[in-house]
Amino acid sequence: MDLLNTLVDKGLRRETPTRAEALAVLATSDDDLLEVVAAAGKVRRHWFGRRVKLNYLVNLKSGLCPEDCSYCSQRLGSEAGILKYTWLKPDQASQAAAAGLAGGAKRVCLVASGRGPTDRDVDRVSDTIKAIKEQNEDVEVCACLGLLSDGQAERLREAGADAYNHNLNTSESTYGDITTTHTYADRVDTVRKAHAAGLSACSGLIAGMGESDEDLVDVVFSLRELDPDSVPVNFLIPFEGTPLAKEWNLTPQRCLRILAMVRFVCPDVEVRIAGGREVHLRTMQPLALHLANSVFLGDYLTSEGQAGKADLEMIADAGFEVEGTDQVTLPEHRAGGGCGSGEGGGVCGPAATAAGSCGSAAEEPRTDLVAVRRRGAGTDLAPNA
Ligand code: SF4
Repeated sequence: MDLLNTLVDKGLRRETPTRAEALAVLATSDDDLLEVVAAAGKVRRHWFGRRVKLNYLVNLKSGLCPEDCSYCSQRLGSEAGILKYTWLKPDQASQAAAAGLAGGAKRVCLVASGRGPTDRDVDRVSDTIKAIKEQNEDVEVCACLGLLSDGQAERLREAGADAYNHNLNTSESTYGDITTTHTYADRVDTVRKAHAAGLSACSGLIAGMGESDEDLVDVVFSLRELDPDSVPVNFLIPFEGTPLAKEWNLTPQRCLRILAMVRFVCPDVEVRIAGGREVHLRTMQPLALHLANSVFLGDYLTSEGQAGKADLEMIADAGFEVEGTDQVTLPEHRAGGGCGSGEGGGVCGPAATAAGSCGSAAEEPRTDLVAVRRRGAGTDLAPNA
C-alpha cells in the first residue's frame, strides 16, 4: 500500500505525516490490518528494536477526587466500588514499588488522585521518591499528581523524580465534554512546566470516549507538538458507576489501528499501552507489541490487569525482550527529550481508567473483563507483579 510505504519512510526519517495520512491509517479495513501492523512495526523496531519497557503503577492516594473527569472511577460522585484510601506512607509506597521492580519493571509511576498537589503533598511525594531510590538506585521514577503550580516540578526534580505524567486525554475541541472542573489549557500548561523543569515529560490519550477519528488525530498531533518522551495510550475502561459506563466502542482491531497511528506520528517516542490493554486488545495483545515499546506490568490504579507472569510470558512468546536497567529506552538523538522533531488517566493518572469509539463497533460489552483492584497498594494483600 502506497500509504504505508510513505508512512514507514517518514517514520524512519522522523518526519511528521500529514493529518490525512494519519486519518487514513484509522480508516483502513480489517483486511489490511496485518499490513498496517507490519508497517508500523518496522518503525517501532528501527527506533526501539524488540525491547519492551515495563512500568509499574503505585496508586499513592485512591478515590475521593473533587474533579469530574467522566472516564475516571475516582471522580467526584463516582459510584464505582473502587478502593479508597489517603496517602500511602513512603515505606508503604516503596514496598509496593519494590514488588514491581522485582517483577521486571524499570520505571515506577507514583500516581495520586486529585486536582493537583499542595506543597505538603510535594513534600510527601519527595520523601517517597527518596525512599524508593535509596532501595533501588537505578529505578526511573515518574510522578503523576495532577496540575502543577509554579515551582513544584522543580521541587520534584530536585527530590529525584525523572519524569512527570500528565495526559492530554482527548482533543482540545472535545475536552469540555469530558471534564468541566479544569481545562485542556491547564493540562498543556502542566506538561510544559514539567518539561521546563528538566523532567522527562509523559503525556498521552484515552481512546474510546466517543471521540471521532479527527479528535484522535488532533490529540496525537498536539502531543507531537508538546514533544513528550513517552505517550501512554489508554483504552477506556467503562467503569460501572461513571458517566462513560456505556461507552463500549472499541475492538481489538480498532485499538491496533490507533496504536499504529500513534507510532507513525510519534515514531521515536516511547509509546506505552496503558489502561484497557487486557479489556480491549484481549488475545490480540501480542500484536500490539509490534507497535508499542512499553507496557504497564500488573495492575492499574483502580482495576486489575492480567497476572504479571502472564505479561512476561506474552512478551517472550511474541519474540520481544524486557528492557533492562542497563539499556537506554530512547534513541540517542532524544537524550534531551521530545516527540518527533522537536510525556495518566486523569488530571493525574495514566492508566487509571481508561475504551473507544468509531470504526467497527464492539460486539458485546466485555464487562466480565473489568475487575476492580482489591490487592496491592492500600490493601493487606500481595500485589500483582
Ligand atoms: S482523572 Fe485524576 S483529576 Fe480526574 S477525576 Fe480522576 S483522579 Fe480526579
